[in-house]
Amino acid sequence: QETLLSIRNLKTYFVTDEAVLKAVDDVSFEVKKGETLGVVGESGCGKSVSCMSIVKLVQGGNVKYEGGQILFEGRDTLQMTEKELRKIRGKDISIIFQEPMTALNPLYTIGDQMKEALKNHQKISDRQARERCVEYLKKVKIPMPEEMMFRYPFSLSGGMRQRVMIAMALITSPKLIIADEPTTALDVTIQAQILDLMNALKEETGSSCIFITHDLGVISEMADRVVVMYGGKVCEVSPTDELFEHAAHPYTLGLIHSRPRADFEGDRLEVIPGNVPSLNDKPEGCPFHPRCRYAGKKCEKEFPEAALLSEEHKVFCWKYCGGCE
Ligand code: SF4
Ligand code: MG
Repeated sequence: QETLLSIRNLKTYFVTDEAVLKAVDDVSFEVKKGETLGVVGESGCGKSVSCMSIVKLVQGGNVKYEGGQILFEGRDTLQMTEKELRKIRGKDISIIFQEPMTALNPLYTIGDQMKEALKNHQKISDRQARERCVEYLKKVKIPMPEEMMFRYPFSLSGGMRQRVMIAMALITSPKLIIADEPTTALDVTIQAQILDLMNALKEETGSSCIFITHDLGVISEMADRVVVMYGGKVCEVSPTDELFEHAAHPYTLGLIHSRPRADFEGDRLEVIPGNVPSLNDKPEGCPFHPRCRYAGKKCEKEFPEAALLSEEHKVFCWKYCGGCE
């Protein structure tokens, strides 16, 4: 499978007078053509910041892309000018956010903003644009798509708004879709419908997708491969099936075992003790060491080397490369 995107040694920092916060600290991973890559971890682990770095849309002030490369079809997006990036955003790379109201303009009708998204990137007549929008509203199973064109975002339910966002993200036939917790704000039934829809559309379009979530249940339904992040670092990379069967990193194991399960009543089976480290108080060495029952001396000082468990399964933990004695 060919590589579409390659993030290499990315460092995205928040730099203030008082501190340098290493939100993403030497992160590398790849997205292959046509795959859905899940990026999972608790909030604050650096998953959104890594992925938004791809199009240089990291939220918050004082962002500094301190190092690394992000090769999209061989070109480094970190080196692109704002003008070059604008050409790529919304055309080759689309983003679906958790809360569509932040991405939809409340003052314009759905039709007007969809048409604009399309016209920003291609020469197309107003009639053609309108037809294309209706076609995509149908694709996301919006009832009465012609009528939807005249509605305003606030008049839609959360689920409908997210469908509109997905239609807008797909209308330019992007090569990569970055979906940042797209169903987290929705109730369970609607979430399941949206995930099914996204899976079906992905089959149809063949686009690659980065699916960011804190929810391993969502990962198991959506992702071909998974990147697990903790404390601004990648801790494990694996095909999805293999991760659920043979997770190796103590943090991944904790995540898997602390999932709420339908067949288990009462408390969660195993909860990882402690909290996610705050950015300005990140532990040295392996960032998970204060919470890890296997931590040894080396874990406190040095970030682990990668251990290859199979061709596509990689873990960053001293336990697997003899550093835990
Ligand atoms: Fe635990 Fe050490 Fe592995 Fe980190 S490197 S997860 S502290 S055993
Ligand atoms: Mg986030």
